[in-house]
Amino acid sequence: MVATDTVQLTDRQRSVRDAVGDICDEFDAAYWREHDAEGEYPHDFVNALAEEGWLGVLLPEEYGGKGYSTEEAVAMMYTIARSGAGFSGAQTVHAAIYNSAPLVNYGSEELKSDLLPRVASGDAWIQCFSLTEPKAGSESTAIETEAVRDGDEYVINGEKLWTSRIDVSDYLVLAARTTPREEVEKKTEGVSLFLVDIERGHEAGSLDLEEIDKTASGVVSSFRVTYDDLRVPADRLIGVEDEGFYQVLDGLNEERLVIAAETVGLGELAVEKGVDYANEREVFGRAIGQNQAIQHPLAAGHARLQAAKQFTFAAAKRTGDEDRKAVGAWANTAKYLAAEAAFEAADAAVQTHGGRGIDRAYDVERYLREARLTRLVPVTQELALNYLGENVLGLPRSY
Ligand SMILES: Cc1cc2nc3c(=O)[nH]c(=O)nc-3n(C[C@H](O)[C@H](O)[C@H](O)COP(=O)(O)OP(=O)(O)OC[C@H]3O[C@@H](n4cnc5c(N)ncnc54)[C@H](O)[C@@H]3O)c2cc1C
Repeated sequence: MVATDTVQLTDRQRSVRDAVGDICDEFDAAYWREHDAEGEYPHDFVNALAEEGWLGVLLPEEYGGKGYSTEEAVAMMYTIARSGAGFSGAQTVHAAIYNSAPLVNYGSEELKSDLLPRVASGDAWIQCFSLTEPKAGSESTAIETEAVRDGDEYVINGEKLWTSRIDVSDYLVLAARTTPREEVEKKTEGVSLFLVDIERGHEAGSLDLEEIDKTASGVVSSFRVTYDDLRVPADRLIGVEDEGFYQVLDGLNEERLVIAAETVGLGELAVEKGVDYANEREVFGRAIGQNQAIQHPLAAGHARLQAAKQFTFAAAKRTGDEDRKAVGAWANTAKYLAAEAAFEAADAAVQTHGGRGIDRAYDVERYLREARLTRLVPVTQELALNYLGENVLGLPRSY
């Protein structure tokens, strides 16, 4: 076992790690390998966390949540990824935890008291956020899906890409333009958020799903979704019309730090697998781990991951800082460092395994696919660096 307890945890972080770790221990490497290969969502795992209230980790106690903060969320999600679930295992619950944030911060009291206790108890899942479109990925303000007010409803039309977990969710949070981009002063204006009842959308024949045949994160399915005259009651508008983009931005940095923690957990898993194999495998009459060509990439991966972890956990303690630009800088730095470190570590683990590096039974090929994915989502490395270039280095805005 590679010693990776390099961060000094608070008492509460330790109790989160232990409680979540106990649940994760019930799901071994074979469980994740099989679910990834079959493209199956790990319902048992998610239900086990939901039963203990972990999907409500960030919900206020008055709505039945645990009332914890980013500091505990990084410990929770790192623990899940590190347990063997990897980045994609963490992603099976990540959205359930974060999609309620706009509701908590901006939802009407009626909506909150109806829905949040059910989310906290695991009876209602908001596992899905539908923002990205074929022509609007990194440039999310370019979305064209429109929501037009019609009496006490909005009528929504448009096409989304990469809408994940819509197949296992009760509700989704949808971003749509209520004012076209040409008619607003700033391109960040004119977007609104809606809470969509997925079953009702299917019953009305207003949702058409086409699954994307992707190569990473088999445990989570992603879809191209067409919204065709989807009618949403006006009281399902979250917060203020036209201000949805700002509502999404609020909380994004905290979420990005948690993603970094998940990525570090994945990277550590890869290093551990690599080290175990380097100790076992004998070639030319000695363990391959005796060769520095094998040792150094694993050791360098370990070093990079521990640096990213220190940074991520330290930043998670400071998310209450009023300087939101500084919080953004920490979050983007953590996300960038963690993804690079995890990718290098997973690549080293594959190389250590020789030909077995691409044998599913050894898991490291899955870790590499997932580590590659962390350089693309939820925001690409380039966009994370763009933020730092502009907001920390004072260079011209490039996007
Ligand atoms: C597995 C998976 C799950 C996802 N789940 C969801 C989900 O649930 N909901 C959702 O809404 N979205 C989801 N996404 C979408 C994800 O957020 C986008 O893929 C991501 O934001 C990048 O957008 P894009 O793919 O359109 O890339 P593009 O925006 O087309 O970018 C292509 C390349 O150009 C680079 N680039 C673009 N502009 C610049 C610039 N100014 N400077 C430097 N480089 C630049 C990018 O970094 C990237 O390398 C998911 C994606 C994946 C792969």
